[in-house]
Amino acid sequence: STIPVITIDGPSGAGKGTLCKAMAETLSWHLLDSGSIYRVLALAALHHHIDISAEDALVPVAAHLDVRFVVNNGDTHVVLEAEDVTVEIRSQEVSNTASKVAVFPRVREALLRRQRAFREAPGLIADGRDMGTVVFPDAQVKIFLDASSEERARRRMLQLQEKGFSVNFERLLAEIRERDNRDRNRAIAPLVPAPDALVLDSTSMNIELVIEKALNYARQKL
Ligand code: C5P
Repeated sequence: STIPVITIDGPSGAGKGTLCKAMAETLSWHLLDSGSIYRVLALAALHHHIDISAEDALVPVAAHLDVRFVVNNGDTHVVLEAEDVTVEIRSQEVSNTASKVAVFPRVREALLRRQRAFREAPGLIADGRDMGTVVFPDAQVKIFLDASSEERARRRMLQLQEKGFSVNFERLLAEIRERDNRDRNRAIAPLVPAPDALVLDSTSMNIELVIEKALNYARQKL
């Protein structure tokens, strides 16, 4: 029997990260944050002064990406070439660059095997944009977590304010929409629900309710 996978796809800020962490903890399953791999690739390209619009230059960087995920006291640290980049990969510049390098088919292809290697017993929660459509099309449970762009910008603003950053809502909203448009409209592996995914709209749900609905759905399907 194959190792079970629950895929959680959706746009940024819909609550996927929190949901996936809660599900992985509740089920004691592994967790793949595929977005962090695209972020690390973006950072590696920036560090090595690679032209981020040149697919040919990016493919070898993706193929040889020296990234490790180190769990310490329940926190996952992202390590690129022996440097802890956990905080750096969350910057606005890296977010935007990640969605630019993610449009290239051969770049995505180079990262496929690395992502599939996370499928280990007893099971995997996979967080991303194309987990249910491309990376794990045979997943037993697929969820697409959505929310309005205004609500996602509002949540991101609160997160940033909690960390002490002052932010402009309109600018945040514009950046979220720009990144979403790039993710939704790219030719390969666009952000779209798998035909067999449960679509959850979290716009007017708190995260506890989202977690409850997702776990109930997963338990019923597994
Ligand atoms: O999920 P996160 O915001 O960390 O992802 C950063 C970017 O990486 C996304 O905007 C998207 O362009 C890309 N990505 C992707 N496929 C995934 C996960 C992320 O193309 N499975």
